[in-house]
Amino acid sequence: MISSHFKPYHIPLFLAKYAWLSLRRMPMLVHFEVTMRCNARCGFCDYWKTPATEKAKELTSFADAARHFSPMMITFTGGEPLLRRDLEDLVRAVREASRLTYITLITHGGMLTLERARALWDAGIDQFNISLDYLDGRHDAARGIPGLTAKILATVQSMRADGIDGIRFNTVIKNDNVDQLLPIVERAAELGIGVNFSLYTDFKNGNRDHLVDAAGRDAVERAVGALMAYKRAHRGVITNSDHYLSTIPQYLRGELPGPCDSGNRTIHISPTGTVKRCPDFPLDGHWRDYKGYAPINCDACYYACRGEAQAPLEPSRALDMLALGRRRPAVPAVVPAT
Ligand code: SF4
Ligand code: SF4
Repeated sequence: MISSHFKPYHIPLFLAKYAWLSLRRMPMLVHFEVTMRCNARCGFCDYWKTPATEKAKELTSFADAARHFSPMMITFTGGEPLLRRDLEDLVRAVREASRLTYITLITHGGMLTLERARALWDAGIDQFNISLDYLDGRHDAARGIPGLTAKILATVQSMRADGIDGIRFNTVIKNDNVDQLLPIVERAAELGIGVNFSLYTDFKNGNRDHLVDAAGRDAVERAVGALMAYKRAHRGVITNSDHYLSTIPQYLRGELPGPCDSGNRTIHISPTGTVKRCPDFPLDGHWRDYKGYAPINCDACYYACRGEAQAPLEPSRALDMLALGRRRPAVPAVVPAT
């Protein structure tokens, strides 16, 4: 579902903005990595090893960058953005600087309370993307946060009951959660929220434990087939394009041709204001000096941000947009956090 912060009359304005950004070859999606610090303990990401002293170097405003790029979408990410006590101020300033921009927040959810979610929603967050890779204790173990899964599910339910309607699970497809993908979608549908999938890569820190290798390809292909069948029958829950989901098996078989076009439609800006072409590449220059990137012969990941940037405008995208625009009923009962 698309955030109720936006109304149907915004659609032509967004379409005009899309055309304007395309003409000027400006990014559609800008990620603000507001901190690299994190209090989770994921084995597949080293951001949590960032020293606390890095806090002193973090920008105190991303508003100028938001005004400069004024993209279709801005994502607050990290590290764990909720570690920033001034996150509401950062969001409010970006909202003021770029009004016709859809603003999302990626969080592991461990520190997300209804009160903080409401404050961020009122400051200008249009969509909360909460990481959830398993519905059971495997998620708590993978993130190193006891009780995390139950907390996420309870918080989402209370947010929905409070009228916050822009919520998605961010689910990474790994070799050991193939059994969880459809159940996560079904749980999201019950909660009245969406799910966005991305494929695991070991490029972050070389951890191959969750990598889908040759032995796991068939299982992922079957799971993706089930997700596609679900999506065609119930549009508006799975938010990836048909193109991205259906090309995951091709990527795993090494059959996806062409260089990576990252760093053009999508860019990342570090906590100190430096641009990089994708989350896992080295930092380049200051965002004011950004002039775009040449396509690169890299095949290290098939993150959704890579695949979606290269997705063609198919009729199924219009069906997705119509379905995402439909309001879903709030979930009335609030389950207490455990
Ligand atoms: S994957 Fe996310 S939650 Fe895990 S350590 Fe990295 S930034 Fe933190
Ligand atoms: S394939 Fe593209 S998005 Fe992925 S790591 Fe390489 S350059 Fe980055």
